[in-house]
Amino acid sequence: MPDIPVWNKCDNKCVMCANTAAFCLNTTKDYALLKQAARLERHLRGAAAYRKNARTAGAWNLTGGEPTLNPEFLKAVAYFRRRLKGEELLLLSNGRRFSDPAFAAAFAAAARPPFTLGVSIHGPDAASHDQVAGVKGAFRQTMRGLKNLSALPGAPALEIRVILHKLNYRRLGATLGLLRRELPGCRLVVMHYEAEGRGARNEAKLAVKLSATAAAVNRCAAYLAGFRAAALYHFPLCLLRPELRRLARVSLPPEDRAYPAPCRGCAGREGCVGLMRPYLRRFGAGELRPLP
Ligand code: SF4
Repeated sequence: MPDIPVWNKCDNKCVMCANTAAFCLNTTKDYALLKQAARLERHLRGAAAYRKNARTAGAWNLTGGEPTLNPEFLKAVAYFRRRLKGEELLLLSNGRRFSDPAFAAAFAAAARPPFTLGVSIHGPDAASHDQVAGVKGAFRQTMRGLKNLSALPGAPALEIRVILHKLNYRRLGATLGLLRRELPGCRLVVMHYEAEGRGARNEAKLAVKLSATAAAVNRCAAYLAGFRAAALYHFPLCLLRPELRRLARVSLPPEDRAYPAPCRGCAGREGCVGLMRPYLRRFGAGELRPLP
């Protein structure tokens, strides 16, 4: 289902953010609720109203920027919930505004099921998270927000996303340990970063091969088994331990995936995400080993 940008500004400056500078600098007028509603109606009538994932399966993704900064955010959540009744909604947020207990409670009241809140945690402590988020104090606010929501009966399901790159992949085990301790009911997504937007501009800081991040994931197999639900995004099946392959998702639309020469005749191809196209251009396909 489409990515629906709810707001284009953000109060974090994440080093691997996939948004482009043009998107972030654009006017906020396009995100007024009346315009959002008109855009959704156009999409529901079959028009090309959204740029990303317009017709893929899965949840409707409410994205940004940081959606909670939209002055009409709570009304927008209530609107999308009402208009897309019964459909799975996924809100992607940095979680910081939920550190305000009243805001967290108002959100939980509007975000009726099926609704998931996805929040990224970048490391096991404030120093490592804030280094990636680019804002001192972000970790403290995000964790407080997540705890506020976890304590509310009927709050949306919580999905924590750990996006791996050169700055944080070595600390994956410690990050998962923190999540198991502090947010024991959460679902987990571990993913390799996408070299787009600011992430592409910061490539020198971030670049790491999939074989390295997949090896970090493989070392954490026991931790992954301890989560209520876990999924792996953007990892080729052939880089994962056999028992982890069932967690891998085809996490990109067809136009963003590549299946280079080693994938020909691979037994795993149908359920495999292959390689991200920018990754293939940068690193080639030499890490891939077709499955027998
Ligand atoms: S060889 Fe290609 S299709 Fe097969 S598991 Fe690896 S990336 Fe996937």
